Amino acid sequence: MQKENNKEKYMKKKSIFSRDFFELTGCVHNHSEYSYDSSVPISKIILAARNNELDYFTLNDHLNMQARDDRDFRNEKDILIIAGSEINDKSNNNHFLVFDHSEIIKGEDASKYSKYYFENGVTCFAAHPFEKRICNKFRKYIWTDPENTNFHGLEIWNAVSEWVGKLSPKKNGVFLVFFSSFFIRKPFQKTLNYWDDLAKNNIRKAAIGSTDAHSITHKWMGLKLVFLTHKMLFKTIRTNVLLSASETPSQKSILKALRNGNSYIVNYKQGNPYNFYAGISDSKGKSAIFGEEIEYSENLKFYFRLPKIAKVVLIRSGKKIKTERDEKGYFDILGKGVYRLEITQLGRGWIYTNHIYVI
Ligand SMILES: [Zn+2]
Ligand SMILES: [Zn+2]
Repeated sequence: MQKENNKEKYMKKKSIFSRDFFELTGCVHNHSEYSYDSSVPISKIILAARNNELDYFTLNDHLNMQARDDRDFRNEKDILIIAGSEINDKSNNNHFLVFDHSEIIKGEDASKYSKYYFENGVTCFAAHPFEKRICNKFRKYIWTDPENTNFHGLEIWNAVSEWVGKLSPKKNGVFLVFFSSFFIRKPFQKTLNYWDDLAKNNIRKAAIGSTDAHSITHKWMGLKLVFLTHKMLFKTIRTNVLLSASETPSQKSILKALRNGNSYIVNYKQGNPYNFYAGISDSKGKSAIFGEEIEYSENLKFYFRLPKIAKVVLIRSGKKIKTERDEKGYFDILGKGVYRLEITQLGRGWIYTNHIYVI
């Protein structure tokens, strides 16, 4: 499956504490015509990705991996497409993203399939583990057993899940359909708490942000409406990965970075994070980026730089420690713990970094 991307069309080179990285921007968790609830051909998704200058995207059709045999999937040379699937249990809960693996487990309990994939080293993530709904017409698809942590990571922000959570067709349906991206505002706090709590208890899991695009078709007053399209959602939640510049970017290296949490989640609607960097360093050569660990010493600082002023909150083991409103700065690290940054503008989520472990 390893396909080399020599074009390096959009991917950026970034230097963080004099370490060189490739930064790839992409959208995780997308459905195609191989899902029962989507009819978009892969060629169209590739076009949407190209128009949005994505370096990669992942396909996670429900309970199958037919995308891998698709001609457009196989012929694509510029954009790195990662084939995966979305598994669920008998009650259609416990949605679970698995990647680059041909065995699809159907009709089983989540405890079984999550254990199987996780123990066999298949890259896997819990999808939309917690959901909210303001209209009970729409059911939730949740992670039913919080004790089950057989996964490499979890979605902390799923664009379509957040959107559906706010939908009440009679009250706001029209607004949500025509101004979809306005309603994608921030991750669900319960999910962030769950993720931080795991980290606090030394259960390290990587966070990802997802689009969950289906391109929904709906008949309304004689019109055929298509909304929450791939093209539109590719402008919202992305997971940007940092790969060591010494390796050739590939599907494999992206999956490794996602699994290790060498990534951060961005809402592109809020701004392109073109010069963003952050990480912990002692400014004497010891440093860590997202997903890495660093030994505690007195001079450690969590540095950040942004393309514009925003509210930057330092979170230590689930607790808000300090806030800065700036485009550049640092926080002193005063002890061991699990650290991350939450960056917002006027209450809207922009950038959520993965954890850095100060040990
Ligand atoms: Zn799902
Ligand atoms: Zn899905």
